[in-house]
Amino acid sequence: MRVAVDEDRCIGAGQCELAAPEVFEQDDEGVSRASDPEPAEDLWQRVHQAADLCPVQAVLLTGTTGKTGTTGTASPEQHRETR
Ligand code: SF4
Repeated sequence: MRVAVDEDRCIGAGQCELAAPEVFEQDDEGVSRASDPEPAEDLWQRVHQAADLCPVQAVLLTGTTGKTGTTGTASPEQHRETR
């Protein structure tokens, strides 16, 4: 799984960093980025939680996730379609 944050969309709500601080970090202006763009499998569930919690669907997931039961996604819209 690969993780990215659409920094143009991010409003700095911080939900992603709360859900998975090992994977997301916010800069001084609150904009989030993926500090670990290829997280270990044991973090995938919380990364998905972060994507679900983001109020503006700025957390982008790509690649097959297997254990979490969610297929790969390439955009926020596709992420929503897989749930
Ligand atoms: S939850 Fe979404 S809006 Fe909030 S900091 Fe993370 S990416 Fe940005």
